[in-house]
Amino acid sequence: MSAVILDGNRISADIKNEVADEIRGLAGSGVRPGLAVVLVGHNPASEVYVRSKVKACEALGVYSEKHTPSEHVSTEELLDLVESLNSRDEIDGILVQLPLPPQVDAKKVLMAVDPAKDVDGFHPMNVGFLSTQRPGLVPCTPSGVMEILHRSGISVSGADAVVVGRSDIVGKPMAMLLTNAHATVTICHSKSHDLPGICRRADILVAAIGRTGMITRDYVKPGATVIDVGMNKIADRAEFERFFHGDAKREAAFAKNGSVLIGDVDPAVAEIAGAITPVPGGVGPLTIAMLMSNTLKAMKLRRGERLRETAVRQA
Ligand code: NDP
Repeated sequence: MSAVILDGNRISADIKNEVADEIRGLAGSGVRPGLAVVLVGHNPASEVYVRSKVKACEALGVYSEKHTPSEHVSTEELLDLVESLNSRDEIDGILVQLPLPPQVDAKKVLMAVDPAKDVDGFHPMNVGFLSTQRPGLVPCTPSGVMEILHRSGISVSGADAVVVGRSDIVGKPMAMLLTNAHATVTICHSKSHDLPGICRRADILVAAIGRTGMITRDYVKPGATVIDVGMNKIADRAEFERFFHGDAKREAAFAKNGSVLIGDVDPAVAEIAGAITPVPGGVGPLTIAMLMSNTLKAMKLRRGERLRETAVRQA
């Protein structure tokens, strides 16, 4: 038996359509959500991410602007930029693309973002809101995982969930979201003993590790739902053969690009899992969809009362 493939592209498209519909519905009120992206220097991967974020904004009717300080920017200059974005009413979301160059105090810059505009959900205020189940902004990747689970009809309440990875960006908020959704959650990391044994208890296994194909069949209970957050590149022929021997589609991609993407989960896990997210096309596409959804949510949380008042006056 092979696993149901959880199609992140489809779910992402559904969420984007819902966001676009809602934005179209606001057209009469003359407002639309606005996102400011800060991209420092010329990191090629960051440039690709930012380009796709700006493109998504255009497609959905979100106003967007890009700020591109030089790689020599100081912490103070970035703080001034964030402060000016904080003070502009038409900007609902501020995204500071990471990584920042070494001379910049990244924590200080992220802390300076108004929590009400923190569409990445990284500010400690939003972390606190998530942990105490108050309305706030939740990190995009783990909230995208929850959308995959809910929209695929995978039951979370009462399930045993294991999250491998405890980063502030993915692992910890993922565990909190699953806890809030009534799963029984175990968080694992590089110091965990008997990782395969712990993972084999999971009904829902989330891998957010950053290690090529580390989660093999030995880690997975047959029938479990496996969510692969990892995004790693294979450029080595022998490693390619180990994971993708006989896969014609991947072979063509490897020949063309000299590398292929792989997650933290060995693709052979699909032979025993009940459901699994592919890489690419699983969790990845959700991250941008949730950024769009978060920008709309930030607008509603911040400007909602005023929008409602305008609607009443116009009625
Ligand atoms: P981090 O490097 O910040 O965290 C990795 C976590 O994995 C750490 O908690 C670490 O443990 C744990 N870990 C590392 N090695 C092992 C091991 N051998 N056994 C058990 N645990 C281990 O990564 P991120 O959380 O930022 O990202 C994780 C992955 O998700 C990456 O591949 C990243 O590219 C991908 N990602 C994908 C996104 C998407 O849109 N699909 C978005 C964000 C990330 P410890 O704390 O002990 O060091």
